[in-house]
Amino acid sequence: MKKIITVVGARPQFIKAATLSRQFQLLGIDELLIHTGQHFDANMSEIFFAEMEIPKPAYQLDIHCLTHGAMTGRMLEGIEEILLKEKPDAVMVYGDTNSTLAGALAASKLHIPVIHVEAGLRSFNMQMPEEINRILTDRISNFLFCPTDAAVKNLQREGFENMPIKIIKNGDVMQDAALYYAAKAEQKSDILKKNGLSKFVLATIHRQENTDSPENLRNIINGLNEINRQIPVVVPIHPRTRNILSQLNIIPEFKLIDPVGYFDMIMLLKSCELAITDSGGVQKEAFFFGKHCITLREQTEWVELVENGFNILVGNDASKLNEAFEFFKTKKSDFSLNLYGNGHAAEKAARFISQI
Ligand code: UDP
Repeated sequence: MKKIITVVGARPQFIKAATLSRQFQLLGIDELLIHTGQHFDANMSEIFFAEMEIPKPAYQLDIHCLTHGAMTGRMLEGIEEILLKEKPDAVMVYGDTNSTLAGALAASKLHIPVIHVEAGLRSFNMQMPEEINRILTDRISNFLFCPTDAAVKNLQREGFENMPIKIIKNGDVMQDAALYYAAKAEQKSDILKKNGLSKFVLATIHRQENTDSPENLRNIINGLNEINRQIPVVVPIHPRTRNILSQLNIIPEFKLIDPVGYFDMIMLLKSCELAITDSGGVQKEAFFFGKHCITLREQTEWVELVENGFNILVGNDASKLNEAFEFFKTKKSDFSLNLYGNGHAAEKAARFISQI
């Protein structure tokens, strides 16, 4: 592969793409980035490019704040135009957002090989827009880089081995990012001092199934309020969740802060007592930094964390949330288990790609 176009658009994709971009530079592979604009606030986008030294996008589409169909459709059109002009040897997509699906679909219709990083993950919940994006993206990709054994097994069960699609287990590029940026975060972040944090619980809430149901969101906020009476809860709040809270006139008792950059997030993860989240990435990062996690969802794609007792799924049930909190208060775990590779997932993927 000589020339790759990478499609990114949402916060977790910037973090994942940072790891591969660095490897492409080392291997002399020419990479151009398309930023669809799905996440556009400075603290949801720009800060990641600056801190993680991600190459400046060659194309910026500015497509956001639309329904799923309109957003994906406009991205498809915009990306297709660029691919026709740039004629890359392959298109890279990450994860499970509308930008992922639009990038994969635009490329596959033009017969440009598609490389999907973080392939094979399944929640088995087709109500999640992410699940639809994952399944469709995997099916139209040519190279599937899987982070875990469970991801490979999912693809095998779905018959992918009988298709002309290459499956490679390379490990989790988010572990690479966590390891690589941890030392820089220690030097650069002042988030703990700025907010006077010592013993605290870190929480994030942004999944549609939680934010778009007032009842689910109220349950979660009540559960977190209760925990906050024992130990301060800190939530870097996603802009969508903040808007919905204000529309519903819900004022949490715990501390809300603006979304933070990756360095600050690493320091929050490293220093918290426990993570509570509905984010895919944060569940794993809690593990990388030796913290238990309570997940505000009924299913997770990261099943190995639950199977090994690092993570408990509680959905939006406030009493289950509190039970899990009490359980983890005294639990000690050995976080040295190697579930996600050893921090060389991006290197492995880039080397493979360089030989295609
Ligand atoms: N993250 C961040 N700042 C925040 C909240 C999250 O840097 O204020 C990071 C987090 O550490 C993880 C990624 O964003 O690496 C996860 O993104 P998100 O939760 O939006 O998406 P998901 O992982 O659920 O797809």
